[in-house]
Amino acid sequence: MTPVSLFPDAPVTRVRVLLPLPLAGAYDYRVPEGFALPPPGSFVEVPLGGRDVAGVVWDGEADPDLPAGRLKPIRRVFDCPAMTPSLRKLVDWVAAYTLSPPGAVLRMAMSAPSALEPGRPTAGWTTGGGTSRITPERARVLAVLADGVPRAGSILAAEAGVSPAILRGMANTGLLVPALLPAAARFARPDPDHPGPVLGEAQASAAAALCQAVDARAYSTTMLAGVTGSGKTEVYLDAIAEALRQNRQALVLLPEIALSSQWLERFARRFGAAPALWHSELTSATRRDTWRAVAEGVAPVVVGARSALFLPFPDLGVLIVDEEHETSFKQEEGVVYSARDMAVVRARFAGAAAVLVSATPSLETLTNAEAGRYRALHLPLRHGAAGLPTVSAVDLRTDPPERGRFLSPKLVAAAQAAIARGGQAMLFLNRRGYAPLTLCRSCGHRMRCPNCTAWLVEHRLQRRLQCHHCGHAEPIPPTCPQCGAEGSLAAVGPGVERVQEEAAIAFPDARRIVMASDTLPGPLAAAEAARKIVDREVDLIIGTQIVAKGWNFPHLTLVGVVDADLGLAGGDLRAAERTIQLLHQVAGRAGRADAPGEVMLQTWNPEHPVMQALIGGDLDAFMRAEAEQRRPGHWPPFGRLAALIVSSEDEGLADRAARDLGLAAPYGPGVEVLGPAPAPLALLRGRHRRRLLLKAARDVAVQPILLEWLGRVPVPGSVKVQVDVDPVGFL
Ligand code: ADP
Ligand code: ZN
Repeated sequence: MTPVSLFPDAPVTRVRVLLPLPLAGAYDYRVPEGFALPPPGSFVEVPLGGRDVAGVVWDGEADPDLPAGRLKPIRRVFDCPAMTPSLRKLVDWVAAYTLSPPGAVLRMAMSAPSALEPGRPTAGWTTGGGTSRITPERARVLAVLADGVPRAGSILAAEAGVSPAILRGMANTGLLVPALLPAAARFARPDPDHPGPVLGEAQASAAAALCQAVDARAYSTTMLAGVTGSGKTEVYLDAIAEALRQNRQALVLLPEIALSSQWLERFARRFGAAPALWHSELTSATRRDTWRAVAEGVAPVVVGARSALFLPFPDLGVLIVDEEHETSFKQEEGVVYSARDMAVVRARFAGAAAVLVSATPSLETLTNAEAGRYRALHLPLRHGAAGLPTVSAVDLRTDPPERGRFLSPKLVAAAQAAIARGGQAMLFLNRRGYAPLTLCRSCGHRMRCPNCTAWLVEHRLQRRLQCHHCGHAEPIPPTCPQCGAEGSLAAVGPGVERVQEEAAIAFPDARRIVMASDTLPGPLAAAEAARKIVDREVDLIIGTQIVAKGWNFPHLTLVGVVDADLGLAGGDLRAAERTIQLLHQVAGRAGRADAPGEVMLQTWNPEHPVMQALIGGDLDAFMRAEAEQRRPGHWPPFGRLAALIVSSEDEGLADRAARDLGLAAPYGPGVEVLGPAPAPLALLRGRHRRRLLLKAARDVAVQPILLEWLGRVPVPGSVKVQVDVDPVGFL
């Protein structure tokens, strides 16, 4: 109940509070008498519609004209480090850039609400005053604790090399007494001076440049480019060491944290301790502990998925985006944002060094480097004796596979030879399942998803047809659902399962493994697969894009790309760029140790510039040509794009709203609207989708134009208009 004030006109202290909800903006609240004024950034609990919600005291003045009686009071201030000004700025900036409600962005920065309460300290041990018989084991325990730092039982036992029973005995005699552990005790401190490898000349000068950027304690962005295996990771680990020496924090964003077992092992070898992890599969307790430890500055290094960008680092020194060209840094649902681009923004607000790392940098990053907006570092050579693999094309017109097969005799022979020499071979096909299309040979009926504009993909192992867009699955029917013919359904085209089936015949004695997201569910399975490969328990690897990720497989000498043309179909602006990045990445798995690597691309079109660039090893020239294609039409990165995706369960409503938006389209110098047109995925999860594309010159700010446009066109509540600024996907 709101207490009645004796002086209704007395001024009340007001603050703005932003709540992690998709509301229009911050709400005003009253600071109750006797409360210290919570400064901006304070986490507070406030009433909202009958419940209490946690939010953040936001910047800016509350509205002085709102009658005091209408203001609800703040309930309490959490005992938690305040959100830093730089993170608050980031929240506002991302909201404005992506046209999202600020509360929706704040929600990403408050992803572990229980962490706002101070942690219950866990119990550990410290030395007590007891005098009792000191055995050699007990002496070791006391020696470990001599530094005065309490430790958790398990850690103490491990460090002293004794069993937990010894600790219990010591506790019983008073030699040990319980002590509370700070959160820091759960996050080991990586040691920057733990010995790392001796860097080569180019590596050392790149590392020095990065360390300098960290030392500057000011914003900078550096592109770290270099062929696969040139030591980019080794170099940026040095920049992390530098941040640690300065007692600042480091964040590493990886595109697939679940596939990063080798990276984590390497980090632990380099620093003698593991980093904190951040991704969607953490348990809620770990999530809570990690968020809190980051806020308190006791988790010095975090490696995570894109959502780690919104963790509450109080003092970020360096921010690394590894494989910066990867499209998975773009979040396509909810707040539609690019974690790579927002990492640069966060670095700017935090006065930190951003590092964008890739063997195949995006045209965006290359262009920024060329224009001097980013610094550029290059590592031209592979480390040590390893050379780059030789790449050749297998022309499917002249060297076709047998009928109904997908591996040309040439590729099979090369893989057999590699295995016979004691190496490993890899067959890459970026398609899960057995076959991408199931067709009736009698009537031509194609098996489609009922909810999406997509064919159903056969997964023969599971005896099911699956939609890769919405997850719809059904058993493979015994007869054609259209004409009723029996046994007439045929699999068309290959997926990795089908390549595996063919490989079983072509390589009967080879020990094979399939690496695809459905055969390796979860990080442990992927880590175990990688271990088997490194330990030579496998001769032939068959995989989807999972195998292209930063793996280091020292015995892998031959990589065969089953369908190098796969990504080039479709009208996507970046189809060629993306294909060359992926294929270069796969190719880069070969020949990373002493034995030279060889890559074979099966293609119908060996003359295609993508194939030619891969064969000639001149990606720079390819990217320059790509830039020259995009520049004249002002396509990104030489112009701006923003997509509107209009969707509804009702096709007529989607069409009408899209048409209304099209009729009201903005125009002006340097501004153009394409569409509306049905999206390539015209039906997705049961929603009909139409697209419009706003194209603008680089110096045009698209957000005000979009806001004004959307503000002029009312759409019914059942129609959703999603805004995608800087789209990377066009489905
Ligand atoms: P990239 O990140 O460019 O692909 P990495 O940093 O993964 O390259 O290096 C490739 C391999 O070479 C790794 O196994 C790495 O440990 C090793 N390596 C790189 N530089 C050195 C070095 N200076 N001394 C010893 N090993 C190195
Ligand atoms: Zn579907």
